[in-house]
Amino acid sequence: MKKLVADRTSLIDASGIRKVFALAAELKDPINFSIGQPDFDVPEPLKQEAIKAIEAGLNKYSQTVGEKQLRDKITAQVAAEFGWEDPAVLVASGVSGGLLLAFMALINPGDEVIIPDPYFVIYKHVVNLLGGKPVFVDSYPDFRLPVDRIAAAITDRTKMLILNSPSNPTGVVYSQQEIEAMAKLAAERDVLILTDEIYQQFSYDRPAVSIGKHHEKVLVMRGFSKSYAMTGWRLAYVAAPASLRPVVEEMTKIQQYTFVCAPTPFQRAAVAAMDYDVADLVKGYVRKRDLLYDGLKDSFEVVRPEGAFYAFVKAPGGSGTEFVKKAIQNNVLVIPGNVFSEKDTHFRISFATTDEKIRQGVDILRGLV
Ligand code: PMP
Repeated sequence: MKKLVADRTSLIDASGIRKVFALAAELKDPINFSIGQPDFDVPEPLKQEAIKAIEAGLNKYSQTVGEKQLRDKITAQVAAEFGWEDPAVLVASGVSGGLLLAFMALINPGDEVIIPDPYFVIYKHVVNLLGGKPVFVDSYPDFRLPVDRIAAAITDRTKMLILNSPSNPTGVVYSQQEIEAMAKLAAERDVLILTDEIYQQFSYDRPAVSIGKHHEKVLVMRGFSKSYAMTGWRLAYVAAPASLRPVVEEMTKIQQYTFVCAPTPFQRAAVAAMDYDVADLVKGYVRKRDLLYDGLKDSFEVVRPEGAFYAFVKAPGGSGTEFVKKAIQNNVLVIPGNVFSEKDTHFRISFATTDEKIRQGVDILRGLV
């Protein structure tokens, strides 16, 4: 098999996640704290929009950059929000699709990509796949934005910095001050920032601040997957100021030869989604966050999640992997921190499940300390 598959396959490794799922396969009705998608369904009016689009025959390829109606809507929204004149916009097949296009358009072998650690898994592996070099910047123990450490990590080979707030896996939401400090540094050192804002609407204590408002050299990625519970619809967008249009055009070119376009009927539903208020759905997640955090905080070292639907908890005993084994033996499915980090000291809990399951899971986890 070694001869059959390309060398680049050895640059990525899915073993951490695979091990968890192998262990989990033996469980009957586990408390599943591993899921990265909301536990509600796509809101009914948005489903109806998709059905209408399919029935109206919108089943062919769309333009590579996306359906005009959706692009116009996104353009108006980002122009108003960021004060950009004539922004560049591309509709992608999920933020995952957007990330792949961005990395393919930007990374030469040997280029460095600065990534605060812990991080969302895709960044590391796709950067590696393309021959880039992830440069991890430690953000333990509080997972705040480590601006000084990022400053020290910038070199002549730095191609970009990736930010993700609200964060998967830590639940941290960067403050206005952190974002402004980061923007100041990035401007001084002329660093491109790719900001993954897929959890933008899941910010529980204050609105999430986008660095798009504060830094010129920025690629903003936002997705429909989480906010509207449509992870299977594969929709997201990439937006950038006009000065970065050449980058977005290269990404579009690559989309033309890979994804071709994002799913056409769902693009129509996404137009309606952009006017659909998810505040009530998100409110339920504030309660879930509180249930989880209040339940764990006296027994575990845990940073209070301010957004997304994750908590990144220090493993009693020091090893994330060992603690996760113990949790799974007790029917609670969590993910070891080393899937999202160069360290193996924590584990990730997703609270995108029912209140009842959260209560049960918290009780079991507390019993394992
Ligand atoms: N970024 C982050 C931080 C995520 O957590 C996810 C989904 N787990 C994605 C991007 C990818 O989402 P999608 O491709 O569904 O838009």
